[in-house]
Amino acid sequence: MISETRSNDSPPARGRISLVGLGPGSERQMTPEARQAILEAEVIVGYKTYLKLVAELIGGKEVVGSGMREELPRCALACRRAAEGARVALISSGDAGVYGMAGPAFELLLQSGLLTRVEVVVIPGITALLAAAARVGAPLTHDFCAISLSDLLTPWEVIEKRLRGAAMADFVTALYNPRSVRRQRQLDRAREIFLEHRAPTTPVAIVTAAYRPGESVLLTDLASLDRHPVGMQTTVIIGNTSTFSREGVMVTPRGYGNKYSLDAADLTEEKP
Ligand code: SAH
Repeated sequence: MISETRSNDSPPARGRISLVGLGPGSERQMTPEARQAILEAEVIVGYKTYLKLVAELIGGKEVVGSGMREELPRCALACRRAAEGARVALISSGDAGVYGMAGPAFELLLQSGLLTRVEVVVIPGITALLAAAARVGAPLTHDFCAISLSDLLTPWEVIEKRLRGAAMADFVTALYNPRSVRRQRQLDRAREIFLEHRAPTTPVAIVTAAYRPGESVLLTDLASLDRHPVGMQTTVIIGNTSTFSREGVMVTPRGYGNKYSLDAADLTEEKP
């Protein structure tokens, strides 16, 4: 006869890991769901700069912050704490699934067999390209793509192939990680590649620290892209062949060759 040993102890609580995107920086661009997940978490894991953005939400919690190059150990720690039963928020800026921690977290959970033991919730956030676009008008109204110029985890040949493909196929292109202290040449090379396929007058937006203190928004063109400051907190948006920039706004039409018209005179109620 098979006997079963039962214990009166309740089963250990199932841990949870929330992969939270904070949005570009200001609290107003953070979703209520992201805020809630941070408030409910017992353990907060993230890059130091992002933890500062949510400082007032995380008082009294276990906080694990670390520097830029320690992404994977930080991610592993978040998974481990969740597997032990804790409610963990692993935070990224923007959206956690766009050059963020969501991918590495799933990879680690799958590889370690822990995915079945923890509840995983992905909480979307406003990614940098949307924040940058909102600051300059409507540059993404037609097909667009995002390319990161960081060759830390991706071979430069692959990045260059994507730049060529995007330039050739006339995508509006948002460049993430365009320049850092260590990576100075990449943006110049991207500009050269785009100039092979697009006019020097193609509109370009350089948006730095969108929705953060010190925000700067600049409209220029492909020819002059190399004359402006670009850093770690910058997203560069390169227009397609029909994007235009006028009166301080950058706009990509919904279609090629479309003409919209609205006679301002129609807006007045009484015509003379
Ligand atoms: N997960 C983030 C991206 C992380 S990669 C997201 O979805 O937005 C880091 C890059 O994002 C930076 O180098 C920069 O290109 C861009 N970025 C992040 N925050 C930004 C902001 N507030 N303004 C402009 N660009 C930003």
